Amino acid sequence: VKDKLFESLSEIVGSENVTIDPTDLYCYSFDAFSYPFIDKKLFKFRPTAVVMPTTTEQVSKIVKFAYENRIPVIPKGAGTSISGGSIPTQGGIIVDLTRMNKIKKIDVENLLVVVEPGIIDDDLNLALKSYGFFFPPDPGSHEYCTVGGMVANNAGGMRAIKYGATRDHVKSLEVVLPDGRIIRTSPSVLKISSGYSLTQLFVGSEGTLGIITEITLKLTPLPEHRTLVVIAFKDLEDAGRCVSEIRKSGIIPSSLELVERYGIKTINEILKGNIPEADALLFAEFDGSFDEAVRQAKRAEEIIKKYEIAYIRFIDDENEIERFFKARQGAAIRYIKLVPELARIGMGEDFVVPVSAVPKALKKAREIFEKKGIKVMLVSHIGDGNIHPFIMIDLTKKEEQWQKILEAAREVNNMAIELGGTSSGEHGVGISRREFLPKEYGEAVEVMKAIKRAIDPENIMNPGKIFE
Ligand SMILES: Cc1cc2nc3c(=O)[nH]c(=O)nc-3n(C[C@H](O)[C@H](O)[C@H](O)COP(=O)(O)OP(=O)(O)OC[C@H]3O[C@@H](n4cnc5c(N)ncnc54)[C@H](O)[C@@H]3O)c2cc1C
Repeated sequence: VKDKLFESLSEIVGSENVTIDPTDLYCYSFDAFSYPFIDKKLFKFRPTAVVMPTTTEQVSKIVKFAYENRIPVIPKGAGTSISGGSIPTQGGIIVDLTRMNKIKKIDVENLLVVVEPGIIDDDLNLALKSYGFFFPPDPGSHEYCTVGGMVANNAGGMRAIKYGATRDHVKSLEVVLPDGRIIRTSPSVLKISSGYSLTQLFVGSEGTLGIITEITLKLTPLPEHRTLVVIAFKDLEDAGRCVSEIRKSGIIPSSLELVERYGIKTINEILKGNIPEADALLFAEFDGSFDEAVRQAKRAEEIIKKYEIAYIRFIDDENEIERFFKARQGAAIRYIKLVPELARIGMGEDFVVPVSAVPKALKKAREIFEKKGIKVMLVSHIGDGNIHPFIMIDLTKKEEQWQKILEAAREVNNMAIELGGTSSGEHGVGISRREFLPKEYGEAVEVMKAIKRAIDPENIMNPGKIFE
């Protein structure tokens, strides 16, 4: 079967762009979710073949062939999903889109940029910078994730609080449907209200409705000035209360990020700094014109000063701000390097609660893990109520801890849903959060399934993802 598949796919893309080599198939059998310690069962899944197209027409022919032969198709970008989105749980053809990585057009006149899905987020931003624009969503994986993967997962990040997630920047898509047809989801304009919003339907569809082969994004001007305020709070809940208060005040930070206790140690190490080791560290960034950024930072300071803080620093230098954010992004990973018996569990927990519930959620999440003896660092896009418990396993008690980690993860997600939130703010459902969808959406899940059936009646497009 494999040889026949190899032949058929080679006819479409050339044999140099197809592989059925077992070593290659192994490498394509996981993503960032299936980190070795998580669950050995995940490593049994192999694609039958991997194909690397370079044009939409090739993608269309591959999908048509798969449709006619009822073979699962799994689109894949950089594989940084932490929800198992591109794990081939039912075998099939992985369509690796990283060779479709061109910027087709930077249309400054119309404030649009057209790209292929495999372009890396940072590469796009580097190109846009010289025109004075940027693509604001800023996932921690910006150095290596693809824009196609960002669209398919509706990725967010540190700037979503002000600029929105990927969804808010997509103006039109070219999509190959599960039967091989190629559609454009809408005209590429800044404003539209005709017809159903197919663009928004495909954003966040996690490769289950079609393969995105071209993306039109709106251009956002780079802010003139950025001011970062870094604050160490003596109490985690206080940090949460301060966040709720800043949000209520009407100030709109361009980032509001939180790292708790252990993270301060590693941030100091990365920065060679001396921030006091308090309970939580908050990064509040404001941007716009110089006056606007500074005025907002001052207003935030008035709120912050009501709480017991151990440290506050204002930073206006762009390079220094970048250094601090890099340290924020590296804080959790660095921690496990300091403690040799700890390893990261790549589950990418990603729950969101209403902003008013942030203090309660922080406290409860900490308690849930502590009670089970699991080490966790809460790193958060806290301004959106989006909390990532960075879970660490003690390798000296691996078997015993693994079960407790699964229980704790389930508990925090259920807690978020009970508080009126969701199990995923930006990483998507994949295979890791399917059980929570009915609790969050109720009957609406049936509507989602009906849409899936209408667009993909043979269920070949990334089957087994999102829905149980
Ligand atoms: C260290 C680290 C930090 C991260 N930080 C963040 C963060 O701050 N915010 C955030 O939102 N995410 C974050 N992520 C998660 C992840 O990086 C994002 O979801 C990213 O957008 C995925 O892009 P990718 O190219 O790796 O996609 P992949 O992992 O390859 O694919 C993701 C999903 O999209 C589908 N897909 C990919 N390309 C296409 C396409 N062209 N057409 C249709 N479907 C497609 C796949 O089938 C899969 O379901 C982080 C991940 C890591 C490892």
